[in-house]
Amino acid sequence: MTNISGKLREKLERICEIKAPEVVHRNYSKDGTRKWVFRVGDGAGSLVETVLIPAEDKTGSRKTLCISSQVGCALDCSFCSTGKQGFQRDLTPDEIIGQLWVANYSYMEEVPVAERERSVTNVVMMGMGEPLLNYDAVLSSMNIMLDDFAYGMSKRRVTLSTSGVVPKIDQLAQDIDVALAISLHAPNDELRNELVPINKKYPLAQLIAACQRYIAKDGNESSRKHVTIEYVMLEGVNDHPEHAQQMIKLLKNLPSKINLIPFNPFPHAPYGRSSRNRIISFQKTLHVVMILMLRVGSWSGKWQIVPVVQSSGKRKLLNVVRLFVHKLKDL
Ligand code: SF4
Repeated sequence: MTNISGKLREKLERICEIKAPEVVHRNYSKDGTRKWVFRVGDGAGSLVETVLIPAEDKTGSRKTLCISSQVGCALDCSFCSTGKQGFQRDLTPDEIIGQLWVANYSYMEEVPVAERERSVTNVVMMGMGEPLLNYDAVLSSMNIMLDDFAYGMSKRRVTLSTSGVVPKIDQLAQDIDVALAISLHAPNDELRNELVPINKKYPLAQLIAACQRYIAKDGNESSRKHVTIEYVMLEGVNDHPEHAQQMIKLLKNLPSKINLIPFNPFPHAPYGRSSRNRIISFQKTLHVVMILMLRVGSWSGKWQIVPVVQSSGKRKLLNVVRLFVHKLKDL
């Protein structure tokens, strides 16, 4: 670089290192899904995963990158394989942004120059770890994603997903304007205490109130028009019709998009995946109860049930789910 002074170049050489994250494994599926495993640091077990998921919708084609924020996780959600590994350490901003760099660069190698801006279009901080427990590094990384001199991503296309660290949700609202997703997974405190133990510290009433404050913060100019609700479907655990009804009541004053996620079992997982029929039936219950509440005027939220973004092999199920979304919009 000759457009900066020699003195600055010398300093940069002393204090900076430019290198790509080490990819120890990568897998590119036929459906376009790409997965990378990165080694961070020297430990053999210091591995994190990043997944890029392509999708088509009415706004065009999207490539959503799911980024990790920690090696392991301390929160020990009972359905989560990362939680079973325990917590090792926080990722640094360069290790977080490095995941985006690799995903973008993987397209540079094979896409004509004119199309290169169509690489990663969306980021979700939803990989390994709880991003709000690595707050400073995650905030710094998201600022780089939004910065016009860096990745210049739209604030609507960067989403932070949390299991519910309530004080940090309020801090996030002050510090940056990005979309928010909540790993809900249970519609009542008793069940959520079991599935997402941080609920014992920040129960649902506090979490929903924090989400409402987050949306209210900057009005219509922000990307905060709704919160995305993530709900993993666990067979016989959280997939009963009454759970759907409880969810409606819980979220009735919170503009929400709901993702129903088929559980992906891992070795020794204590749960199974809800059947396709069960998931569709759950979604139908959400619709029916919502219609009833609309009729009696006891519902004021804005709802949209959206299909789950899934990797290979789940297209058929998702298309069925999408059918119901269209019906919902027709109401
Ligand atoms: S917070 Fe996320 S990564 Fe951590 S254990 Fe829970 S689901 Fe897994």
